Amino acid sequence: HAKTMGGGRTAVFERQMHSGALAMLQLETDLRLALKRQELLLYYQPIIDLKTGQIAGFEALVRWQHPRRGFVLPGEFIPVAEGTGSIVPMGAWVLEEACRQLQQWHERWKSLGLIPPNRERGEGVGGSAPFLTMSVNVAGVQFGNPGLVDYIDQILQQTGLSGSCLKLEITETAIMAAAESAASLLHQLKKRQIQLSIDDFGTGYSSLSRLQRLPIDTLKIDRSFVSRMSSEAESLEIVRTCIDLAHNLDMDVVAEGVETLEQLAQLRALQCESGQGYLFSRPVDATTATALWMSMPQW
Ligand code: C2E
Ligand code: MG
Ligand code: MG
Ligand code: MG
Repeated sequence: HAKTMGGGRTAVFERQMHSGALAMLQLETDLRLALKRQELLLYYQPIIDLKTGQIAGFEALVRWQHPRRGFVLPGEFIPVAEGTGSIVPMGAWVLEEACRQLQQWHERWKSLGLIPPNRERGEGVGGSAPFLTMSVNVAGVQFGNPGLVDYIDQILQQTGLSGSCLKLEITETAIMAAAESAASLLHQLKKRQIQLSIDDFGTGYSSLSRLQRLPIDTLKIDRSFVSRMSSEAESLEIVRTCIDLAHNLDMDVVAEGVETLEQLAQLRALQCESGQGYLFSRPVDATTATALWMSMPQW
């Protein structure tokens, strides 16, 4: 390949200096086409109410079905998409697709007579939780985009969903980096009753005084702490501290990466409201998620 591009002497140089950059460039190009070619899809992972064992909602997780690369996980392309800005159109697609799926589930439940008439848009009534929530990851770059609120308004209007069914997940780092503009955006979202979660909590640096002033509903404790909590006293203490902090700030908690019954028991003992992890289910495609949800005794 290098030879056709300019002779054998460049081959070593190219391999050593450029292969990483070239691969990145190719990934970038492919990524820009991925949306157009409809190669992206969403998987859904249930979030379980640890009191009742029921599915409280799903988190939408993007996947890339690439013709040559195969099934690509977000860890490989989200950072690239964030760097090049293609995360903005991609994130817009994710939001719309996730809401469209949630609306479809709502329609299904309505047609089965399982949504009470006073909860037509899926909203919680009299302090009860919303019917089923959809959590969507929002990257820092998207978060700084002033068009985000209008775009979400449009989607809510199109789907007829209550804002309270939608939960946006923003990493601790992105929230803290976005400074003052973040606060005003978060308040605009809260006006629409949209729920807000801090993702991967514990891995970044949070200013507690700022955290207290932001209208956050949920802390998601990072998987790294949950996975070590049964074997490492220190991690258990971190999890306990995060849960106490959240409760003191009037937030609830989702533990990420719950894989064992021991972790589940510990989280329950610590009054953690919700859990997400392979113990309950891996992220699955929409059809499997529908089956999973239909099989749960929700009524
Ligand atoms: P995240 O938002 O913290 O999502 C949770 C990740 O943990 C998911 O990885 C999920 O598959 C994985 N996970 C859940 N339970 C377990 C478990 O019990 N054990 C283990 N080992 N892993 C578990 P995934 O789907 O590969 O996504 C990785 C990250 O990529 C996400 O982390 C999120 O930051 C980002 N991401 C995914 N989809 C999107 C998206 O649509 N937009 C943006 N901006 N970021 C996304
Ligand atoms: Mg997340
Ligand atoms: Mg997370
Ligand atoms: Mg995480």
